[in-house]
Amino acid sequence: MEVSIVGAGLVGCLLACYLARRGHRVTLYERRPDPRERGPDRGRSINLAISRRGIDALSRIGLDGKVLHAALPMAGRMMHGMDGALTFQPYSADRSQAINSIGRADLNRELLEAASAQPGVEVRFGCRLTGLDERTGRLRFASGEEAEAGVVIGADGAYSAVRARLQQLPGVSFSQEYLDYGYKELSIPPQDGRFALDPGALHIWPRGRSMMIALPNQDRSFTCTLFWPHDTLAALDTPQRIRAYFAEHYRDAFGLMPDLVPDFRGNPVGHLVTMRCSPWHAGGGDAVVGLVGDAAHAIVPFYGQGANCGFEDCVELDRCLDEAGDDFPRALELFERRKADTDVIARLALDNFVEMRDKVGSRVFLAGKRLEHALERVLPGYVSRYELISFSTTPYSQVERRVARQRRLAVAAGAALVALGFAARRGRGLVRTPEAD
Ligand code: FAD
Repeated sequence: MEVSIVGAGLVGCLLACYLARRGHRVTLYERRPDPRERGPDRGRSINLAISRRGIDALSRIGLDGKVLHAALPMAGRMMHGMDGALTFQPYSADRSQAINSIGRADLNRELLEAASAQPGVEVRFGCRLTGLDERTGRLRFASGEEAEAGVVIGADGAYSAVRARLQQLPGVSFSQEYLDYGYKELSIPPQDGRFALDPGALHIWPRGRSMMIALPNQDRSFTCTLFWPHDTLAALDTPQRIRAYFAEHYRDAFGLMPDLVPDFRGNPVGHLVTMRCSPWHAGGGDAVVGLVGDAAHAIVPFYGQGANCGFEDCVELDRCLDEAGDDFPRALELFERRKADTDVIARLALDNFVEMRDKVGSRVFLAGKRLEHALERVLPGYVSRYELISFSTTPYSQVERRVARQRRLAVAAGAALVALGFAARRGRGLVRTPEAD
């Protein structure tokens, strides 16, 4: 089958590999020039965390080893208090699990190489989609060029041009929800050739309404990302205000950021948006059009799952093609079942913002996490929500059901323990009962 994928980002490239493996001929259309011939965009999410779901999807086409080789494992969160005090919170009870910090540009390059190397895949750069007819599969590009394919998949990100066409059709629902927050990237360079912070952790400076995080890079620098309300970002409009604010709120990091002022003033502010669309496919007649990755379900980055979820889309679409005998209209219909999962991770990602910017700094929260890890050690089968999301491939929608079941079991086990303790003390005559009185 002739398939056109719009967008040679992370998900588009991986999907091209999956479809080529099934014997389909794939053309990837990308609006940008070839990223292998130029550097990454300044201040645009330089690294990201890849966890189990992403690794599983990569492993199915033999790319996991290469990608993980270029990654830095982070086994937990390192919280930075206002006074510079550090608290480490492991992601898993036995500290064996880690999420992996990977350069976005390196990952994209790796995936592009893999896609280009597949027989039957062609990648066309400088092709910005501007028009699409979902009934014929006719594509129009900004250059004036046109193309046609029986199957068109939109993997063109949160502001998808393919989805924009579907949104015009009757019966297609769409919503976008912006947070009143922006993100901005800063940098902590190496100190005397070494990492300035522990590279084995994801660093968080929780500050109530806002936060900063930092992920390590292969060159021993850290990329920091501020997640701040727009009014705070706008208020720091002079070098003096920027320095004074960081010296007060991010005291330990301030001394590690020699380029703070030019980075803060020069780097763009990114937006944080959740996009929902339903259905993800349309067409009929001569062609069918579908959506994957951020084009179908852009989410905020606070669970580190956007790319992981998009990679998992490729696995699920592959499974649907298996079930449908490679009949794309039928497979895209089956693929709609994935929405139950993407809706859950969209909600959890929003909830996790409050946890990261505010709760992780509190003693009660940390005690709760320690209790959760203790439960994992004593109750067989008990796994925290974070671990189920990040270190398993349990469908997102089943994670919520399992967490609710586990909580009920933990409460029942706790009540049984209390009752047993009471009975034992009573047996030893340590508890006075009405009969004894
Ligand atoms: P994109 O990566 O956006 O790729 C879309 C591609 O389509 C691009 O190459 C674009 O140039 C191209 N394109 C767009 N329009 C057109 C057009 N009209 N014609 C042709 N081509 C077009 N996810 C994680 O899993 N872990 C993380 O730690 C993480 N951290 C993040 C941090 C931040 C600050 C942000 C903003 C996101 C983060 N994400 C993370 C989410 C992740 O970046 C996205 O989910 C992921 O990039 C989606 O991949 P995609 O291929 O669907 O879209």
